[in-house]
Amino acid sequence: MRLSFEPVTLNLRRPFNIAHGVSLTRRNVLVRIDAGIGEAAAVAYHGETAEGISSYLSRLDLGAFDDPCLIDDVLGSLPPGSAAARAAVDIALHDLWGQRLQQPLYRLFGLNPSRIPPTSLTIALDTPEAMAQAVASARESSLKIKLGAGDDEARIRGIRAATRATLRADANGGWTRQQAAKLLPVLAEHDFELVEQPLAAGDEDGLAALMRMRPRPLLFADESIRSSADILAHRGLVDGVVVKLAKCGGIREALRQIAVAHGAGLRVMLGCMVETSVAVTAAAHLAPLVQHVDLDGPLLISNDPLSGVRYDDGRLTLPDGPGLGLRPKDSE
Ligand SMILES: [Mg+2]
Repeated sequence: MRLSFEPVTLNLRRPFNIAHGVSLTRRNVLVRIDAGIGEAAAVAYHGETAEGISSYLSRLDLGAFDDPCLIDDVLGSLPPGSAAARAAVDIALHDLWGQRLQQPLYRLFGLNPSRIPPTSLTIALDTPEAMAQAVASARESSLKIKLGAGDDEARIRGIRAATRATLRADANGGWTRQQAAKLLPVLAEHDFELVEQPLAAGDEDGLAALMRMRPRPLLFADESIRSSADILAHRGLVDGVVVKLAKCGGIREALRQIAVAHGAGLRVMLGCMVETSVAVTAAAHLAPLVQHVDLDGPLLISNDPLSGVRYDDGRLTLPDGPGLGLRPKDSE
């Protein structure tokens, strides 16, 4: 099998401001293994760059492998390093596997595509007034609100006054213990269903205290969770965990993490980065397995190179072509 790759610059429809910083474009890397395609998201706060991903990929030689059905053999041969690059290789291999067997991935996994929970659309961090305006003009019935700066109480009140949508919050680790303890009851009072990463990764004692609070929204860990061991360490500390292909290293590991989380009594949200239809469609093929979905990457960018999963007010429709089922943009 032959591997090639190319960096792509994704243009964001709106400046994407979260507690980690602001951006207008993202540089991801598309990977091809024969006719299969995958994507690596260069997420700065994971320590990933397009250059680092490209450097990892340039050292790979899959010439010794010729059967895309032996996915574990290929993945087992990869050196340690960039989780995003390994996710891209894993996604491209699964795409190729499905193409070889002439079935969409969800069918190979035995999943019902009509069982995908609706996705939320992310509203980036801004002034309370601008965020209230953004939610008022959003058509989606489920919204994920980025928080984690001062003024969050005003944001929460203004946003709930402007919409009847299902609301989630994501603090991206931006709150102190005191801020989180003050804001959790405000979120509950304004009918937010869940909050991601209220505290910085590593503050397990802080999470334990938040879990004892009532009332509160469901607590989810995102940045705290990279491995299955992290999931097990958060048993009892959160209600659920956020699994992302770019974070865990691909479809194979995401399936394991979903199983580990459910075995530990935790809910799972399947999330994404700022990514094209390549990586997000890959994640969407697993979405019938989870309780919550946050797969809005293609909705945030204006130059998606391919078509994959389709959106209709948060409802995801999987393509039924073999593998990921991606098509050229101009085929629609
Ligand atoms: Mg998050």
